[in-house]
Amino acid sequence: MADREFRVVVAGAGVSGLFMAETLKRARIDFTVYEKAGEVGGTWRDNTFPGLFVDVLSRQYEFPFQPNYDWSRKYAPANEIWAYIKKVARDRGLTKFIRFKEEIVAARFTDGRWHLETAKGNSDVADVFVCATGFLHKPLFPEIPGRESFAGPSFHSARWDHDVPYAGKRWGVIGSGASGVQITEALAWAGCDVTQFIRRAQWVHIRENPHSTWYQRLRVRLPFGYRREQRRLWQFINEGDRWRLEPGPQREAMEREFRSYLDCIKDSELKKKLTPDYNLGCTRIPKSDKNYYEAVQLPNAHIVKGQIARIVPDGVVMADGTHVDLDVLVYATGFDAHAYMRPMTVTGLNGTTIDEAWREKIYSYGGIALPGFPNLFMLYGPFAPVNNVPVPLGLDQEIACIMRLIAEARARRAAVAPTAAATEKFLARLGAAFPDTVWVGGCKNWYTGDQGTPVLWPLPQSEHKAFFAEVPVEDFQFIPTGQGD
Ligand SMILES: Cc1cc2nc3c(=O)[nH]c(=O)nc-3n(C[C@H](O)[C@H](O)[C@H](O)COP(=O)(O)OP(=O)(O)OC[C@H]3O[C@@H](n4cnc5c(N)ncnc54)[C@H](O)[C@@H]3O)c2cc1C
Repeated sequence: MADREFRVVVAGAGVSGLFMAETLKRARIDFTVYEKAGEVGGTWRDNTFPGLFVDVLSRQYEFPFQPNYDWSRKYAPANEIWAYIKKVARDRGLTKFIRFKEEIVAARFTDGRWHLETAKGNSDVADVFVCATGFLHKPLFPEIPGRESFAGPSFHSARWDHDVPYAGKRWGVIGSGASGVQITEALAWAGCDVTQFIRRAQWVHIRENPHSTWYQRLRVRLPFGYRREQRRLWQFINEGDRWRLEPGPQREAMEREFRSYLDCIKDSELKKKLTPDYNLGCTRIPKSDKNYYEAVQLPNAHIVKGQIARIVPDGVVMADGTHVDLDVLVYATGFDAHAYMRPMTVTGLNGTTIDEAWREKIYSYGGIALPGFPNLFMLYGPFAPVNNVPVPLGLDQEIACIMRLIAEARARRAAVAPTAAATEKFLARLGAAFPDTVWVGGCKNWYTGDQGTPVLWPLPQSEHKAFFAEVPVEDFQFIPTGQGD
């Protein structure tokens, strides 16, 4: 029987929320997941634009408790990832714990528990509140005058309008990030007239994405085959990705390789437009499975570089006065990556809200907790390893640590929060690592936003694992609640 006394509420049923749900279910802890949409999947439910494939190897994007032996490709298409996530929710019996179409809008820690309110006006009470609300969730639109005046269909990349036919339309794609690159490439190869509006060039990873062979599918099914494969990938993450963290020959070799991708561009003007002027890796690297650089040289594809002055009913006017006629406009302009659980109002000790706590800077302890907010946990909060570790792997380590903290707090009949001193120490440790990494090359990126420091994990994956395995109990304050074992 599950323990009916002690309750956990989770906000969000994406990869993080489902991972947490499965862990709570196995621990026989009573819990409910609130999901504001009508289906699980988060990112993979919302982003259905053409050309979207997973960045990391498909095999690295698996829940450790549910291997998938049958990925169709080395890097699976987004719809396959979404289908896998839905299958996990179904197979693990998680759906019955989820209240769909119910957004949590407010959470307040009072009398030792979290009091929650939903947009439908319902309320709930929990001992622990876990925000699995995503870091790339809230679409961001550029502040370009005239946006509302556009006469044709226009939408954000995370809200793709599948009713708009590709053919016979002049497509405009605003944005040079990962989504903008993948959409432009897909539309160009589909034969559409597509113009991509970029303000700066991106480093693009031109990669091979072969279909899985029968032998690969068999190999992981053989005794020890899956474990051997995961061990190999673990080594790859630790060693192959170190160039992001420290300068040296690996980083130089990567830069040479990325520059060589540009060699296929025949027109020197176009090559100049598409050559980045900042260090490799400083922004999230778009992945291209069908050679973006070849795609944008097709006669139906156009790159317009510069500032957009305004949007008009029939297109876009650039700062230099050039008018580009368009029928459809796609905003591949990213997300408010620093929103985290907001716009939800979260109120901790002494009536302090998250907005107040983060007014000057976003911070956290380990990306999972905040001083002054007892028994509040975040999954992939600020300073989680968003660029160099596949999300499910990072979650595995975060969630194991959260479960230990919950157990410790229950044993003490208390609520747990990191101390301010331990949080400072954590941030100082990361701060010391940043100067060597690729994320501080002076380029504008969403990790850094306006706050000067990127909000990601700048150390090797092995240190992430070690950090969460050894989080010292002295880093935490236990506030008596009378609730527990
Ligand atoms: C286009 C795109 C491609 C990506 N590709 C990769 C990749 O290849 N590899 C990789 O590792 N990562 C990738 N990411 C990052 C991706 O976001 C993570 O891998 C992962 O999906 C995050 O899962 P999550 O559950 O933490 O957040 P999300 O997937 O964002 O899910 C959050 C969920 O919480 C719900 N929610 C939010 N607020 C509330 C609330 N107040 N109440 C109730 N429910 C709420 C949302 O509806 C959503 O379902 C990509 C992101 C984007 C946008």
